Amino acid sequence: MDHFLYRDGALYAEDVPLSEIAASVGTPFYVYSTATLERHFKLFDDALEGMDHLVCYAMKAASNQAILKTLAALGAGMDVVSGGEYARAKAAGVPGERIVFSGIGKTREEVRMALTGGIRQFNVESEPEMQVISEIATELSVEAPITIRVNPDVDAKTHAKIATGKAENKFGIPISRAREVYALAASLPGLKIIGIDVHIGSQLTELAPFEAAYNKVAELTEQLRADGHEISRLDLGGGLGIPYTRSNEAPPMPTDYGALIKKCVGHLGCEIEIEPGRLIAGNAGLMVSEVIYVKSGEDREFLIIDGAMNDLIRPAMYDAYHDIIPVIEPEAGVLPQPYDIVGPVCESGDTFAKGREMPPLKAGDLVAFRSAGAYGAVMASEYNTRPLIPEVLVKGDQFAVIRARPTFDEMINRDTIPEWL
Ligand SMILES: *Cc1c(COP(=O)(O)O)cnc(C)c1O
Repeated sequence: MDHFLYRDGALYAEDVPLSEIAASVGTPFYVYSTATLERHFKLFDDALEGMDHLVCYAMKAASNQAILKTLAALGAGMDVVSGGEYARAKAAGVPGERIVFSGIGKTREEVRMALTGGIRQFNVESEPEMQVISEIATELSVEAPITIRVNPDVDAKTHAKIATGKAENKFGIPISRAREVYALAASLPGLKIIGIDVHIGSQLTELAPFEAAYNKVAELTEQLRADGHEISRLDLGGGLGIPYTRSNEAPPMPTDYGALIKKCVGHLGCEIEIEPGRLIAGNAGLMVSEVIYVKSGEDREFLIIDGAMNDLIRPAMYDAYHDIIPVIEPEAGVLPQPYDIVGPVCESGDTFAKGREMPPLKAGDLVAFRSAGAYGAVMASEYNTRPLIPEVLVKGDQFAVIRARPTFDEMINRDTIPEWL
């Protein structure tokens, strides 16, 4: 469920007409709904009720500080995957005790930054990384809380580029070697083992892969405890998928996911962490774009819009499907027609949809990409020297620009010309 609905024939974000935002900030832009963000966070929080837990929003999905602040105000922790994200979370007011650091390539600088600024835990992904954390913690005379990310070798049944829990993937340590690696961790100074971490992929649309992974984690918990380790926290990752179309079967709800967690690991008495990103932000955001031209090809009509692959790369990168709807609701009885919906970037991959049925559209009309809140703005680039598009946050009848569109000068002046040139 989201808060982008037609009212009197016009598409709204909560109580604000999208056409009003377009007139104020120009197109294309991203717009997020506070009510949807809050609703999705609460679904997860409520799903784990009765268990000691923390929902750590995977901020790589959408990392604007206004979004982080909205979620942190509800008690969210943050899952960060870089020093930049760590700094961003801190800047948004999230305390170190609520920040979890994931990722396979944490640098010495990043480890030092987190140990100095405060960290809830590092999710350690390899032995060499563990050595580095141990060294730096010892040098700083602090204890680094760690979990070790295990790779359970389960098939998440998702797009290959976002599957992370198979043996062939670069993530985590093979679960078969977990006991050995925990023994190493226990022998190193400066580390405090607190639990286990697992994350098997993104946009999962079934519960079975989670169940397989979580059962393996439960079994490992018992083994590690028998080996004498204190396992008091389980980080179960993110990955629950969202419906990108309203026609397809809906993925499981957070309530069912929460019930599964209770079933698989509830008996262990551990504190539970989860790291949802897409499900919190995905359907809380739209990308709104304007039709520049309608162009007739040999055998098709192209809808050339001002949004492009550099603004929303998911279709080009993952063949992802986004619902694209007109901002003015078509009148009853209007026959749809097929369009290839494309951006202005000089690549054929800059195609959002082929043969998509839309009401007849003309230059100047606005269209909205649904489910664009996660892995949208954060993956944008300035390819073709196209400015990063603004982000707007709506709350009730108010809206605010939460990241402004840079001017051409701002973009160009980031280059520096050597004095010898
Ligand atoms: C990307 C990622 C997540 C979030 O995944 P979603 O599919 O957006 O829920 C959580 N944890 C880790 C370690 C990740 O890399």
